[in-house]
Amino acid sequence: MSTNSDLDGLDYNISSLEKKIYIIADEVLDILKNLSHENQQQLNTKLIAERMFIKDTVKKMLSETGTASNDQSEFIFMKEIANNVLDRFSQLAPLTMNPALSSIKDRLHDKSYVEDTAAWLDSTIKIVKKYFNDLADRNTELANFIVLIMKHLEDTELHLASELSFHQSKYTEDRTFENEISVNMKMLKQDLHNTNDIDDLKNAVMGKIENINVGIERKREQDMLRLRETESTLNSMGSRIKSIKSEADQIKKKAEEMEKESFTDKLTGLQNRKSYDLKLLETIANLKRYGVNSSLMICDIDFFKKINDTYGHKAGDLTLKKLALLLNEKLRINDFISRYGGEEFTVILPHTTLEVAKKVADGIRVYIDQAKFTYKNESIPITISIGVSQFSKDDDINTVFERADSALYLAKNSGRNNVKTEQDSSPSEEHAHKTVISTIQGTN
Ligand code: GH3
Ligand code: MG
Ligand code: MG
Repeated sequence: MSTNSDLDGLDYNISSLEKKIYIIADEVLDILKNLSHENQQQLNTKLIAERMFIKDTVKKMLSETGTASNDQSEFIFMKEIANNVLDRFSQLAPLTMNPALSSIKDRLHDKSYVEDTAAWLDSTIKIVKKYFNDLADRNTELANFIVLIMKHLEDTELHLASELSFHQSKYTEDRTFENEISVNMKMLKQDLHNTNDIDDLKNAVMGKIENINVGIERKREQDMLRLRETESTLNSMGSRIKSIKSEADQIKKKAEEMEKESFTDKLTGLQNRKSYDLKLLETIANLKRYGVNSSLMICDIDFFKKINDTYGHKAGDLTLKKLALLLNEKLRINDFISRYGGEEFTVILPHTTLEVAKKVADGIRVYIDQAKFTYKNESIPITISIGVSQFSKDDDINTVFERADSALYLAKNSGRNNVKTEQDSSPSEEHAHKTVISTIQGTN
């Protein structure tokens, strides 16, 4: 019989599914312990299953499975997990997948779907597979580019080698020609010296001049041939260089697109968390080097979970997009807006003190409050809360965020649809705001 010793210490504030997994794990462990005492040689699935069937806890658990209330709570638990996974996946996936992801989220949101789990899973798996296929296609495309460039480089190397041998043989030909002329001139000199008869001398001189002429003619023909060869080599090198240049341009464009994508939030088109981190470092450096005062705002949609639960994820996604548009509309071009994660947006306001940033934040809060958000002709009430901090010289990337986050926590606690600054939040509240930080990091 199981003692359930490991289970006794468990905090049972966990879902029923988790509980069942713990129970099974505990019983399997117990069976294994017993079997090892019995010195069982043949340890197999059947044997463990048989022992499992005689366990009371397992029997009870199996008889309970299938009751409506358990199914429902497990479903809600699984739904929550699936929601989180899909949210994270949405951040990764390319924009083109958004419609498919939204429809999956909506089906998940629809409660009648409980009976249709298999079909839902099927379409989810399909979309994930598609993502990986797209990724593989992209990698193949890049790999092909690299192979092409390698081929061009090999061809160029061959051209250079043939150019080298061309110059070497030209050098040899030139030397042979010079030798021939010099030998004929020497012989001519000797003939002049040795011959007394004017006719003999004339014949000898004519013969040597003829030799020299033949040599010059041959050299001219060789040079013409080489010139044509050089011309055609230069032509083909020229077109090769042109095509390498166009390949390089395409690769550069692709790399730039990928770089841009890696700094962009897929859903809203705003800068993403990575981009925000870099801007934060730059802002701190600007303050240290040039004394530029800047501020940070964290904007968080109020009760966003309720929006998803009431209107569906698609409506939630559209709300995030619209909010991004409104922030862009209302803020200045120099303000750096990014989607920090989930339904949190950060704004870095360069050359802005806390006092001014608070006014800007208030303006945004009112602007969002008065804006019309609709989904399927239904009006969705949207408000945001904002926490504001000013960069100080001693800040690192965490401290300035933590001060704005404490202010945000205070804004939430003061009734939401609210703006608070670091001056409003006291140090004691700073300890208590941990949940907000973990929520933000958790939903990212
Ligand atoms: P509070 O006023 O305290 O901020 O409450 P809240 O409901 O806004 O905050 P909470 O952190 O409890 O919930 C945030 C929700 O945002 C939960 C999560 O499913 C949702 N969410 C996060 N990312 C996305 C997304 O990309 N699309 C949609 N539709 N919802 C998202
Ligand atoms: Mg929120
Ligand atoms: Mg939040």
